[in-house]
Amino acid sequence: MKSNRLLSVCLGAAILALSLSGCAQREEYYGVSSESAAVSSDISEVSESTSTENGAGANGSNSNSSTSVSGGTSDKNTSSANGSSSANSSNGTSKPTTSSAHQHTYSEKIVAPTCTQSGYTLHFCECGEQYTSDVINSLGHNYDTNTVAPTCTASGYTQYTCKTCGFSCNDDYTAALGHKYTAATVKPTCEKNGYTLNTCERCGYETASDYTSALGHSWGEWETTKTATASSDGEQIRRCSVCGKTESKSIPKTMNASSYTDEVVRLVNIERAKYGLSPLTSNSTLAEYAHLRSTEIVSNFDHVRPDGSSPLDYVMSLRGIYTSGENIAYGQRSPERVVTAWMNSPGHRANILNGKFTMIGVGCYESGGTLYWTQIFAG
Ligand SMILES: [Zn+2]
Ligand SMILES: [Zn+2]
Ligand SMILES: [Zn+2]
Ligand SMILES: [Zn+2]
Repeated sequence: MKSNRLLSVCLGAAILALSLSGCAQREEYYGVSSESAAVSSDISEVSESTSTENGAGANGSNSNSSTSVSGGTSDKNTSSANGSSSANSSNGTSKPTTSSAHQHTYSEKIVAPTCTQSGYTLHFCECGEQYTSDVINSLGHNYDTNTVAPTCTASGYTQYTCKTCGFSCNDDYTAALGHKYTAATVKPTCEKNGYTLNTCERCGYETASDYTSALGHSWGEWETTKTATASSDGEQIRRCSVCGKTESKSIPKTMNASSYTDEVVRLVNIERAKYGLSPLTSNSTLAEYAHLRSTEIVSNFDHVRPDGSSPLDYVMSLRGIYTSGENIAYGQRSPERVVTAWMNSPGHRANILNGKFTMIGVGCYESGGTLYWTQIFAG
């Protein structure tokens, strides 16, 4: 009856232990709470009696449960400590036929010492029993040293490397040296700041400090390099007396070309009105042609087209035209001046005051700062 009660307690303890795992299992097992203190002493009684039975080769009907609780740990502990304990329980149960007295027959294996681990002679019997002897202390590392000097930014140290096993570590650190600067002054320019350049004599590292503002350019007066005209912008330039840099700006056209040609038509009709002539109407086809002719007379100032034909051939080819005329001029800087110039020239004046003309187109084209004028008349 007593053993049955103990068995049930042991099973409870076994279930508790098996529900844990790994290293925690050992700790929890030995740390079973105080309320089971009496129980654990009972367990040891059971395991003692069980091991005795095992040693005799007998298998109790309830030995499996108690073995699983205490056998795994306690039997191993005793066998390794004594080196000559009686057969452990698991062996006793798995080899019941060798239960008669076994004489250990030891073989030997010599394990050499390493840098960090002891050497020894291992004696082992085929039954699993073993022990060691002739322990030799570990050899310790056999270091080669390599000293690394400190730099401006990195610490120095000694590197220890074991010639035997290759183990390596660093020690004996010395502080980084820090940079050793030489200062040089860089003066400011028109556009760039000045500063002090600090250069490390040892490693070449550079850093700047003490900035001074750029001076700015010393500009001269604006000079006109291209005069603005009716059809193109002018340009002015100024130069820095210190660094020679130039800067330009454009001058807007004085008046746009279409307002110039409109003004010529208006002035022509004022002249015609003085002589009782009807005004000429602006014609877009003739105006486009007059503009083309103004571009052509830049290279050949004559009443001849680039292909050698008469400029009036085209006008006469237009539908409903039976008479035509052309005035050209260049160099006059305004509509007033060119109309005045034409009115002062008999041939041109005759075209302006021709009563047979009813339409006009005016062209004004700028090239190289010069204006080229054309009037095309038709009726
Ligand atoms: Zn043996
Ligand atoms: Zn070593
Ligand atoms: Zn440095
Ligand atoms: Zn400058």
